[in-house]
Amino acid sequence: MIRLYVSSDLSPDAAVAPTLDQSRYLTQVMRLGVGDDLLVFNGRDGEWRATVLEVLKKGVILKAQEQTRPQIFGPDLELIVAVVKKARVETIVEKAAELGVRRVRLVITRRTNTDRIRLDRLDAIAEEAAEQTGRLDVPTVDDPVKLEAVLDGWESGRGLMFCDETGGAPAMGALTAAGPGPWAILIGPEGGFSPEEGERLRALPYATAVSLGPRILRADTAAITAMSLWQAAVGDWER
Ligand code: SAH
Repeated sequence: MIRLYVSSDLSPDAAVAPTLDQSRYLTQVMRLGVGDDLLVFNGRDGEWRATVLEVLKKGVILKAQEQTRPQIFGPDLELIVAVVKKARVETIVEKAAELGVRRVRLVITRRTNTDRIRLDRLDAIAEEAAEQTGRLDVPTVDDPVKLEAVLDGWESGRGLMFCDETGGAPAMGALTAAGPGPWAILIGPEGGFSPEEGERLRALPYATAVSLGPRILRADTAAITAMSLWQAAVGDWER
């Protein structure tokens, strides 16, 4: 069944108006017509079965029928990742959506290369991955900000899984010991963290420096590995 992320409120008999692009996808790519069903979600009202009511030039109109799944959210996990090559950032955003991250925060560090970030493209990737992966919300992607600003404005109570390529605690043990709750994972740039950044990060009371093994992983591999370890250790994989 097709799953579509929509902005409309969802309730019995509510009219749902997908975007023009989504309408084209439904009618021209997926060949849906009046009377056909699909699933829609908006990140607030759960997932609903909807039926194509009308196919107009300006777009299709759907009608929400009944809720198929109540709204739930995955664990409170953020991914903070230094800006790396565009293609890898796109991979990281897609994998973050599949691995249940709530929010992707792009950061600029001392050794970050400054590939231009197309936020609209990253949002589209996050949305498409959320539709495919079956989650009921879409992760937000924030514009790049300096790592210092993220740390200066740190939300109290959130743990930081600092992936330190120069070495750290074995990840599974460290996560299991620290336990569930609001967390963020931090992944550095291709050039790694600067010595000053590493020192500041390791000194943070809420940060746990973890190793992702004896080999140096590329930022996208490291992000996928860290998110997987986190979900397995304290996330929602055991449910
Ligand atoms: N240029 C650096 C590697 C940076 S890899 C060097 O050669 O040393 C990019 C990021 O992935 C790192 O900053 C870190 O956050 C993460 N990472 C890669 N391999 C890792 C490992 N074995 N343990 C922990 N973090 C790792």
